Amino acid sequence: SSRMAQFKLVLLGESAVGKSSLVHRFVKNQFDEFRESTIGAAFLTQTISLDDDTIIKFEIWDTAGQERYKSLAPMYYRNANCAVVVYDITQSESLERAKAWVKELQRQANENIIITLAGNKLDLEQNREVPTEEAEAYAKEAGLLFFETSAKTGVNVTEIFTEIAKKLPIE
Ligand code: GDP
Ligand code: MG
Repeated sequence: SSRMAQFKLVLLGESAVGKSSLVHRFVKNQFDEFRESTIGAAFLTQTISLDDDTIIKFEIWDTAGQERYKSLAPMYYRNANCAVVVYDITQSESLERAKAWVKELQRQANENIIITLAGNKLDLEQNREVPTEEAEAYAKEAGLLFFETSAKTGVNVTEIFTEIAKKLPIE
């Protein structure tokens, strides 16, 4: 018989790093070159099944990255079981912003929150500013799952959610 569990997931990170695009790739398996930027936050759900017949339903809050919405973020991460903090591998300052989000989560969110760092836009390798090893070393030190992804090609997108699902506590 199959088991079912649902978890809240929040996406955080600077504006335009590809948070909404990652969610749309995961939920609809689509990518739009000209996605409108998120206002406030968007809510989406998606289920995945694990090898052991467990079905995981993710309730996803895709937040807006702009500074003017920053004060709303705690509403979305306060009850979250997991967070995906996104940066853009072609913008090194977006990793600095991601690190600040991780710090805030580690101080203020649920103490068992599972945090993943995602370096997005892997298809733009020719414009890379953040070396894989640098982000990976930081993720390891901070205790985060780490992936480099492309919402455009789909590389590693499902993998993020599958790895998180495997770490979530299921009775
Ligand atoms: P958000 O503000 O973090 O939600 O970012 P969006 O998902 O709105 O994406 C911002 C821009 O980056 C859009 O023009 C997307 O088409 C583009 N984008 C998002 N993900 C990728 C990716 O993996 N590769 C490339 N080349 N562009 C991407
Ligand atoms: Mg967005």
